[in-house]
Amino acid sequence: RFDQITLKNLIHSYKDWPVEGNTFRDLTPLFNDNKALHLCAHAFVERYLDYGLTHLAAIEARGFILGSIVAYQLNIPIILVRKDGKLPGKVIRDTFTMDYGERTLEIQDGSCGEGDNVLIFDDLIATGGSILAASTLIRKAGADIAEAAAVVDLPDSGGVEVLGEANIPTFTLLAYE
Ligand code: IMP
Repeated sequence: RFDQITLKNLIHSYKDWPVEGNTFRDLTPLFNDNKALHLCAHAFVERYLDYGLTHLAAIEARGFILGSIVAYQLNIPIILVRKDGKLPGKVIRDTFTMDYGERTLEIQDGSCGEGDNVLIFDDLIATGGSILAASTLIRKAGADIAEAAAVVDLPDSGGVEVLGEANIPTFTLLAYE
């Protein structure tokens, strides 16, 4: 059974990391627990089995972990959304500001296109900037966004509202107020 308390016990909080004033929620212990990882993956697979998804776009780096498991289970291809300078060839890119610094994200040109219905996947939603940038890339490529999914939502950072305004529905497993 999916148990939010158990999952929360596997997410550790680090005050003032990586910068003063930020509390970092570390999902590494969750990834290190086979049962918790299985339950999380199952929750996403169950939700998206009949969603008509064509691709899962996973955001570097922690989005790759669960995102790969979920995409494999749904039998859909993975689009890598990477930090700038990591993907060879022609790329589509977007730069934005997040809680602690600037970030540029890229996808490879041709990784999705018109008629595709893409799920964006990451470990956590804070300001929503990463997912918004990923959605810009996918929309630039001509595809639609079905939804954005993450394990954790940080409601105080307002990401879910920002994404809602951009017509991106969100689905998360748990929140830290
Ligand atoms: P956003 O773009 O502000 O929504 O921040 C989410 C992105 O930053 C995700 O890719 C996360 O991996 C990363 N991130 C931001 N804050 C945290 C945190 O507290 N724990 C883990 N990842 C975080």
